Amino acid sequence: MNSVAKSWLCTSCRRKATSPLATRVSRYSTSTRHDRPFRMAIVGSGPAGFYTAYRVMSKIPKTKVDMFEALPVPYGLVRFGVAPDHPEVKNCQDKFEEVASSPDFTFIGNVSIGNAGAHFDACTIPLASMMRHYDAIVFAYGASEDKRLGIPGESELKGIYSAREFVGWYNGLPEYADLAPDLTNGDEAVIIGQGNVALDVARMLLENVDVLRKSDITEAAIETLLKSRVKRVHIVGRRGPMQAAFTIKEVRELMKLRDVGFHDIDMSLIPDEISKLPRARRRLMDIMVKGSATRIDEAAKSWSLDFCLSPLEFLGRSGGGIESTVFERTSLASPFDPSSSVTGTAEKLTIPSSVAFRSIGYKSVALPGFDEVGISFNDRKGVIENDGLGRVSRIKSDESNTQHQESHLPGVYCAGWVKRGPTGVIASTMEDAFSTGDAIASDWNSGAPFLQAENNSGWDALRAGVERGKCRVIQWEDWRKIDKAERERGLLVGKEREKFTSTTEMLIAAGS
Ligand SMILES: Cc1cc2nc3c(=O)[nH]c(=O)nc-3n(C[C@H](O)[C@H](O)[C@H](O)COP(=O)(O)OP(=O)(O)OC[C@H]3O[C@@H](n4cnc5c(N)ncnc54)[C@H](O)[C@@H]3O)c2cc1C
Repeated sequence: MNSVAKSWLCTSCRRKATSPLATRVSRYSTSTRHDRPFRMAIVGSGPAGFYTAYRVMSKIPKTKVDMFEALPVPYGLVRFGVAPDHPEVKNCQDKFEEVASSPDFTFIGNVSIGNAGAHFDACTIPLASMMRHYDAIVFAYGASEDKRLGIPGESELKGIYSAREFVGWYNGLPEYADLAPDLTNGDEAVIIGQGNVALDVARMLLENVDVLRKSDITEAAIETLLKSRVKRVHIVGRRGPMQAAFTIKEVRELMKLRDVGFHDIDMSLIPDEISKLPRARRRLMDIMVKGSATRIDEAAKSWSLDFCLSPLEFLGRSGGGIESTVFERTSLASPFDPSSSVTGTAEKLTIPSSVAFRSIGYKSVALPGFDEVGISFNDRKGVIENDGLGRVSRIKSDESNTQHQESHLPGVYCAGWVKRGPTGVIASTMEDAFSTGDAIASDWNSGAPFLQAENNSGWDALRAGVERGKCRVIQWEDWRKIDKAERERGLLVGKEREKFTSTTEMLIAAGS
């Protein structure tokens, strides 16, 4: 046994067991490891789940992957987040389809692990029961909540939506099928936050509906956007253009929208010598300074990037809807420094808002059962505590005992947004998933301890219990039927697919 494996075993032998899981793991024997399949469960079927599966399957021979997905359909935010007018981004699904076609891969859709709460109309397997049947488990369940501003009016007033709700709604996420955002109250929309998701939301509000109609946006969204009165969109951020989180491609796309004008930005926040900036920052500044080819006085709709404003409160009109948003002007300590700090100035500014969106980030939450099995979740950061390579940290049983703090739970890993926080594109999520996959392969090949798989039977051991509970499990063949039915519906209305927006419709299409 090598030194890595020895140190892992020694730590767990010396330690008092902190949970039933820890007790089982410490008895693990590695003698027959390479004679039998490596059983891995993955929770979540977004990019992190699929790329981790791909990496581990290509590095550990005889890997058997069971992928659990709370919804009846796979792909996570590739289906429910990526904007409908970015179909090329969804090409990664071809790779995922390839992974899923392996005889060593099983998709278990419509089954939630640890009970994801009211968000999903799915069957549930308690975490502890599931872990008994695998060598390893990988949490790749993304971020199912969003951050809140915590300002007056946010919860009470109608017409304030999170970007997560709005994006989920136009992309057909069942949880938000009934959102029915009201875009008819007036012509000014405020989006708080200046990341790429905020720019997606703005594009949906500004884009010609006939262009969107050809994408896989839902018909309900098309109908609502057709009735929209929004003509002026403010995308508001606390800091300046040099600190902005959006990227070149997304801002350029908005500048190029037909009949849509861009209001000039505050040039005092742009460095004098743009040409001396690093390439990416230089191009971003150039695009913002150049603006749009459509003049504001000729534009049907317009938008602006409103910098250095921090939201204070939402004000309402009679009837309970939002009327305006009050901001405090901020001041940048060093306007041209991308990491400049920002402080409030006490000067207030009010922007009329017939509808408002908060787009300040998604948030992951702990799964029920984490405490029971000893998994450490950082609520403040919204991530599963891990060593940066995806090895999940054990809950400390004793604050003064640093040995506990440093230890990992054998066989328990994480990947994607729940591992490193809800930022980054599919490419960075892939890199991240690969690093987790590499850690798993390295641990397995080095003889490090894993979970103790009872009978090494994975899904076969769990299936009967789940089906006894009258749960309709969706396997990959069922997903293909749903996919086919959606494409056929799409053909009827001249688009690639018309998504089902309720789990019931999805299950019917799967032949339930
Ligand atoms: C609005 C938006 C637009 C984006 N646009 C782009 C883009 O244009 N280009 C780009 O490269 N990237 C884009 N991204 C980023 C990209 O979507 C993410 O990097 C990536 O999806 C993160 O992958 P993930 O697997 O960690 O999480 P997710 O994609 O969220 O997948 C998590 C999966 O886990 C499932 N799940 C949750 N809880 C449970 C449970 N208890 N049991 C079982 N399953 C569960 C969820 O249903 C989901 O399917 C966008 C993100 C957002 C939010």
